Amino acid sequence: MCALVRPKVPFKYHSKDEFPAKLAKWIGHVFYDVLPEHGYEIRDEQIFTAFQLADAVCKQKVHFAEAGLGTGKTFAYLLTAISYARFTGKPAVIACASTALQEQLAGPKGDIETLSRLLDLDLDVRMAKDPRQYICDVRVNRLMNPLIEQPGGALREVARWAEETDRGERSEMPHVPDRVWRQVSWDETISCEICSSRGFCKLVKAREHYRPARDLIIGDHGIFFDDLWTRDERIADGKLPLLPAYSAVIIDEGHKVMLPAAMKAGRQIVKEDIDSMLSLLERIQGARTSLVSITAAMGKVTARFFKTLHHSVIQDERTDRLAVQIGDELLEVADTLRRALDALSFELQNEQELHIESLSTAQLQVYEARIERVTAALARFCRNRGKDAIVWVDRVDGSFWVVPRDLSGMLKKYLFAKSLPVVFSSATLSTGGDFSYITRTLGLKEPSSSSVDSSFEFGKQVLVYLPRRFPPSDQEAWFPLALRRLVSLLRLSGGRALVLTNSPSDVRRIRTGLKDYRLPFEVLWEDSAERGYLVRRFREEVSSVLVGAGFWEGIDVPGEALSLLVIWRLPFPPRDPLIEARRHEVKEQGLNPLTEVDYPEMGLRLKQGCGRLIRKQDDRGVIAILEPVLGMPWEHVTMEALPAGAEVVAKLGPLSILL
Ligand code: SF4
Repeated sequence: MCALVRPKVPFKYHSKDEFPAKLAKWIGHVFYDVLPEHGYEIRDEQIFTAFQLADAVCKQKVHFAEAGLGTGKTFAYLLTAISYARFTGKPAVIACASTALQEQLAGPKGDIETLSRLLDLDLDVRMAKDPRQYICDVRVNRLMNPLIEQPGGALREVARWAEETDRGERSEMPHVPDRVWRQVSWDETISCEICSSRGFCKLVKAREHYRPARDLIIGDHGIFFDDLWTRDERIADGKLPLLPAYSAVIIDEGHKVMLPAAMKAGRQIVKEDIDSMLSLLERIQGARTSLVSITAAMGKVTARFFKTLHHSVIQDERTDRLAVQIGDELLEVADTLRRALDALSFELQNEQELHIESLSTAQLQVYEARIERVTAALARFCRNRGKDAIVWVDRVDGSFWVVPRDLSGMLKKYLFAKSLPVVFSSATLSTGGDFSYITRTLGLKEPSSSSVDSSFEFGKQVLVYLPRRFPPSDQEAWFPLALRRLVSLLRLSGGRALVLTNSPSDVRRIRTGLKDYRLPFEVLWEDSAERGYLVRRFREEVSSVLVGAGFWEGIDVPGEALSLLVIWRLPFPPRDPLIEARRHEVKEQGLNPLTEVDYPEMGLRLKQGCGRLIRKQDDRGVIAILEPVLGMPWEHVTMEALPAGAEVVAKLGPLSILL
């Protein structure tokens, strides 16, 4: 396809005013005529959603499109997104919840490839992935430096591949485990600003690749919000925004946006980042005494802040975002660190003015930018005794996150006030058709909305196994019992199972526990390789079992490969600071956080998890919950989240009907 030719709208229209009606007519033709010719069912729910969504996009509304399981909402939004992109001459952005979902949508054999083939449309679709999905040449070269300890086999393999690859995307090396990938990929601590490869490294090439997309850009929530919050500033600084100008945005799994929106609006303070900057400053030749002494003092101030911070952490193994107890001492050391960094910044400017050779302008800009990021975050944290911010410590790297408490103003300014069609799409946006919770969370006034139930017959397709006389999962007796029951279920189903856990530590415990059993099928552990690759293997190797805490949403495994869905524990939310903030809000309104936040959150996640099982009209399977439900306070919310009409059994025997 020639780069200069604007792709045609897939139907004829004579004037702009005619476009909405012609779009609706074409959507009807696709769903009633074209797709059925290729064996697709006519689903009223899907067609209704597609019409509602097209109307909202043409009228440039903010729209909630809730579509129950199996509705086929992806095709419903793709038709409008493609047509509208061609109509306006600007691509539409589809923001997915994860890289795995991006791959599923735009990767080989994904929904877009299928739709393109069925409609005979030549689509220009490109993926804009999280920068962490790309290797950083500098990091690879540093690891391969012969003066540094020699890296292991997997790292050497990555280094060899790095010399050959053009794009440097993780999906090209899907079997590389997380721990190896983290050592070679881009991350926030890297100083791209002073990198000699800047302008032609793999990350830049990746951006250059997706930027000219004419139909669709498939990003994730993170890159979408990163672009949204930095767009105006980047343009003002003469830089290109992360995403090109776009005509509409479809936010898939729209109920999940608040975390990435908050994280991209917030700041991460990494101790090693400050330490490495200090160690570079210590090496400045002939630096003035005042800079040397403040650099030396900074090390102690930083160490004291992080020590106090880590003592203030509230442990919860179910989340990687650890809440922080905010007290006087922590606020005091945070303020001391902020002031010390201000002083360091001042000294650096003096140093540069007085000793030009010891510190280049480029280096100074990098240090100043880093210091500014940290001081701004600390200032936000210290203001109003931490009440303006939501903060947490990252369990994995010990970094400190400071994010704005109220994002609704930012969303209004940067997104909703721009007369841009914005669609939030998900199977779970409302409670029984009431969208007030998400409407309030996003700070919207009167969004348009549509809601349709699932088109599946769960009564015939699903059995729910709720074991009797099971202790709650916080009791010691629970784990061995749950593990034995898991093994029985897996043997009964011959693998073909997805086991959803509540945390990575659950995954590790199950892995250790299963070592004592000889299971005649492959078990895929979520931390053993890239997620998209694991899901593909799970789909293709029918008897395999996939275990993870990160597969509650977004993965699509139709057919036999997923016949048993095991809910290892009910997904009650942890003491996640973002959830804590909601609990706090509710409490201040005199309501019960357990019933107003924890139970609805758990129900929503459980409903999403259950949605993994039945993906097609002829899918059959079992949902097993290895935690007591009946007679418990959460019975009602749990039963509401299960597929409507599915029969509940308490014994393993009847399950063989569907396994
Ligand atoms: S510009 Fe950044 S990502 Fe690219 S090689 Fe340099 S440090 Fe790595």
